[in-house]
Amino acid sequence: MPDLDSVLQKLDRDARAAADWGQVASYIPQLAGVDPAQFAISVVTADGRLHQAGDTHVPFSVQSITKVFTLAITLGRAGDQLWTRVGREPSGRAFNSIVQLEQENGRPRNPFINAGAIVTTDAVLGRRAPREALAEIIRFVRTAAGSEDIHINETVAASETDFGHRNFALAHFLAAHDNLTNSPEKVLGTYFHHCAIEMTTAQLAMAGRFLVHAPGLPRLVSPRRIRRLNAMMLTCGHYDGSGDFAYRVGIPGKSGVGGGILAIVPHTAAIAVWSPGLNRYGNSHRGTEALAELTTRMDWSIF
Ligand code: GLN
Repeated sequence: MPDLDSVLQKLDRDARAAADWGQVASYIPQLAGVDPAQFAISVVTADGRLHQAGDTHVPFSVQSITKVFTLAITLGRAGDQLWTRVGREPSGRAFNSIVQLEQENGRPRNPFINAGAIVTTDAVLGRRAPREALAEIIRFVRTAAGSEDIHINETVAASETDFGHRNFALAHFLAAHDNLTNSPEKVLGTYFHHCAIEMTTAQLAMAGRFLVHAPGLPRLVSPRRIRRLNAMMLTCGHYDGSGDFAYRVGIPGKSGVGGGILAIVPHTAAIAVWSPGLNRYGNSHRGTEALAELTTRMDWSIF
């Protein structure tokens, strides 16, 4: 087996030598100004050791990656009840698609597209105030990462609130189909805030340890739930790019429009990669390339 540290150093060098970094998300003004030419990768192996290369101390907006944590929390609170409100199938559509939600009568395909995550956020909220639900989400993420130094960037949350017209459209569609128990404004306020959590790749890889399922790593949910969360990440974690990610990378992963990806090698490692430029599916371009190379070199594909 090649030496993991040398492989990570090489991935960092290759990323920096690349001509094409992809395009940063432009629909959230706070993210539009980020320099796309950045790269970081952190890997926690089953023995608990952290291996990394690149800009691993730069916090970035984790965005949709928080949907994994909110799903874990919701399944803990509401259990299988959640699946009456949201499906478990890949959407084959963009993460913020509106047309599918209308066609399918307000039941989102899965919890990782925006519409599904808005429903999940509504379930995490229950009858609570947004700050209580957000406190639970932050507590979960900090416990998972073993770090108290993880925060919400209020400016990014405000930026999304001002410009999140598609998300408001989705939330109102859900409300029209009786699939929200709270007002669209309250749910989206909570959703934008948890999307605006910032972490470094080191913190994110640590936060992903609970999904690895290895003795000695933190256990926050049952083994059965770990398998199910990984199954959702594999089939739905990269939106309409999920098939291509499974084909090229071969492990469960969840991307965010801030350019981060959390990927899990079951029983072996949690990986966080960040490079802000995105491919046409809205997933990190250089991050995906690096993961494809990493799983090939380390023979980490689950297939
Ligand atoms: N907060 C972002 C949005 O709602 C999350 C999307 C993403 O990361 N793909 O549009």
